[in-house]
Amino acid sequence: MHFTDLGLAEPLLRAVKDQGYDVPTPIQAQAIPQVLKGGDLLAGAQTGTGKTAGFVLPMLQRLSAVKPVKDARGRVPIRALILTPTRELAAQVEESVRVYGKYLTLTSMVMFGGVGMQPQIDRLKRGIDILVATPGRLLDHHQQRTLDLSHVEIFVLDEADRMLDMGFIHDIKKVLAVLPPKKQSLLFSATFSDEIKALADRLLNAPGLIEVARRNQTAETIEQKIHPVGRERKKELLAHLIKSGDWHQVLVFTRMKHGANRLTDYLNDQGISAMAIHGNKSQTARTKALADFKAGSLQVLVATDIAARGIDIDQLPHVVNFEMPNVPEDYVHRIGRTGRAGAQGEAISLVCLDEDIFVRDIERLIKRSIPRETVPGFEPPAGEKAEPIVLGRMTIGVGGTQRNAGGFGGGRPGGGDRSGGGGGRSGGGGRPGGGSGGGGGRGGPARPGGGGGGGRPGGSRPAAARGGPPKR
Ligand code: AMP
Repeated sequence: MHFTDLGLAEPLLRAVKDQGYDVPTPIQAQAIPQVLKGGDLLAGAQTGTGKTAGFVLPMLQRLSAVKPVKDARGRVPIRALILTPTRELAAQVEESVRVYGKYLTLTSMVMFGGVGMQPQIDRLKRGIDILVATPGRLLDHHQQRTLDLSHVEIFVLDEADRMLDMGFIHDIKKVLAVLPPKKQSLLFSATFSDEIKALADRLLNAPGLIEVARRNQTAETIEQKIHPVGRERKKELLAHLIKSGDWHQVLVFTRMKHGANRLTDYLNDQGISAMAIHGNKSQTARTKALADFKAGSLQVLVATDIAARGIDIDQLPHVVNFEMPNVPEDYVHRIGRTGRAGAQGEAISLVCLDEDIFVRDIERLIKRSIPRETVPGFEPPAGEKAEPIVLGRMTIGVGGTQRNAGGFGGGRPGGGDRSGGGGGRSGGGGRPGGGSGGGGGRGGPARPGGGGGGGRPGGSRPAAARGGPPKR
């Protein structure tokens, strides 16, 4: 199967060729012909599968096949809307629109919060064909009547499961309410929870179904390894691995943004260029960090889980879990950043005694045990005792105990059955770090951070300011 077999027009094939792609990925091979036909689509695909080109290419073709009806001032209306959960993903998707559409005359724009409204208003006034946006800022514009969605012909909900995790369901419903009823809708999601199915029922009309092999749960091209290490020596070990292995382009994950900052300072002190990317950073700082990292001038990017979502870097050779995620699925997402699109990658986890409960949950999820390899000179100290891990307002304790420091309605029982009723993601509890008390973002009661037990039924994620990045 080649791209030329998919029914794509010549300018698109040329742009794909410029990228060096000959063979479509499975999601592309299935999605492109279906979207070209014009029907709705429900696609199960994770980031890293090539899904973006799977919807962008046929969308560009369909839009370029029809001349838009311009308004009185000669402006084109917004004919395609792509909603994404994060700013970074929005920026990357829009970049893909430009890359694949470079031989076409369609125009596009990315829109997200955290930056000024006025430049976006100015750009909208000039008319664009394709808008890629995060939900909050899109609704801001809609409320201010600075944008007209009544001509949307193609609507894409990208990473729908992430959007729900981040508490965007109300925003999504509001967006759906202002879109024209007759349109082509495409929903992409890595997982199909009941909520996603309900959303699909509402949005899609007799959709085609595609599910590409999920990274079940982790790709074969990723070599996974655990380096057991003492709690206090993780930083040293990381610096040692980077220097001795002459690693470049290392993506390092921490659980919390403060940890990301501290680690970044340490690495820079050690002569390793590093920057942190998380919700407290300005959009400019995040964009710069990502650009430098992609260009290879920044050796290490330290990220929290949500900030890393949507980061798309080809063939990233090294992903390091400096701290293990307390939500097992995050492990799969993290290490999915390496070994992408068939390339070989290495995922290293630096694990101290306290994190054994997280490793246990992860191994249960991915249905394999991760090989352990002690690095000489960095053996865990004899007699070290496990200590509880503090996650925001919650403490996950030694040996699977857990207590809430604040007033939210239940967290994940440490090491326990995640589907248990007393807490956890299915128990109406917030995720660790989810706020207690006042609403984190603007808007409705089900927004993350909206107080104990108030989140989505499947457990809410930490507070995510609307349209902006979650503050993790
Ligand atoms: P996505 O899942 O859309 O985030 O894409 C993952 C990565 O795969 C991106 O970096 C793309 O540039 C790359 N990619 C997309 N399509 C192909 C293809 N047909 N062959 C090789 N790489 C691809």
